[in-house]
Amino acid sequence: MSIAKGRALVTGGAGFIGSHLCERLLSDGYDVLCVDNYYSSTKDNITHLVNHPRFEVIRHDVTFPLYVEVDEIYHLACPASPVHYQRDPVQTTKTAVHGSINMLGLAKRTGARILTTSTSEVYGDPAVHPQSEDYWGNVNPIGPRACYDEGKRAAETLFFDYHRQHGLRIKVARLFNTYGPRMHPHDGRVVSNFVVAALEGRPLTVYGDGSQTRSFQYIDDLIEGLVALMASPDDVTGPLNLGNPGEFTIAELADLVIAQTGTTAGVEYLPLPQDDPVRRQPDISRAKALLGWEPTIPLAQGLERTIAYFRESLG
Ligand code: UDP
Repeated sequence: MSIAKGRALVTGGAGFIGSHLCERLLSDGYDVLCVDNYYSSTKDNITHLVNHPRFEVIRHDVTFPLYVEVDEIYHLACPASPVHYQRDPVQTTKTAVHGSINMLGLAKRTGARILTTSTSEVYGDPAVHPQSEDYWGNVNPIGPRACYDEGKRAAETLFFDYHRQHGLRIKVARLFNTYGPRMHPHDGRVVSNFVVAALEGRPLTVYGDGSQTRSFQYIDDLIEGLVALMASPDDVTGPLNLGNPGEFTIAELADLVIAQTGTTAGVEYLPLPQDDPVRRQPDISRAKALLGWEPTIPLAQGLERTIAYFRESLG
């Protein structure tokens, strides 16, 4: 058997993003250790990998310490969609904070490079547009999204303090809305909600009047960005925005899904959730300059692939 390129740990490896990352790292030649507690993920996302000779899975909750020997840590583990992270908000904060402390401790002991997937939610309901990494955000600290937003903000604090205080080699990515195959069909995200509703012949649920915006990044573009960030020189710590600057209103997204699926069930307008950000668009000039990275897959093309996946998986 060939010698692996290195040992990579992926926490949250059975999730939507984690499973794509595990796949990519295996094809790049890594020995991949996938850690997940399946709180908001599923074994189905990784069944096609379990027989790979360089792939290993541990059922583990990152709020408890983990003792393994690795060279690189991709710390993704955390429920990320509002329906999942609001189901047990105390546990969400614990996962973001204790999970990061445990993984940073692991990086400190092993000397591993450690990357974490932070979020555009650190910008809250942003008062500047588009959002660059210098913007400190506008987050309600006691609202229903705070467990996630403030949890991730605290996680970023921990990463930078471990870097300054202990010299850890850290990488902080701020992920903007990402979509693609293996999204959870019932995680309440707008892309999966719209596509699943259209395929099941139900109306698309638009919250508010649909004028709020998001910028949607296809999964393959994100994976490319994460791998490039991990491979970047040690002085590239981030935070770096990883997202697609193409900005769409939710109403435009609904029109696109209707056009691509051919659904005739129309749209149903529902109340806007509390603290729902009005606009969100990444400024990715820093990632472009430092990583030579930018997304290449336009929304229409990524949606086609996502619809094809859901057509098959909902079967
Ligand atoms: N949204 C919607 N219909 C849905 C699900 C979400 O109109 O069925 C809206 C939601 O209010 C928000 C946007 O789509 O303005 C993106 O929501 P999502 O939960 O996907 O991501 P986030 O709010 O975390 O960016």
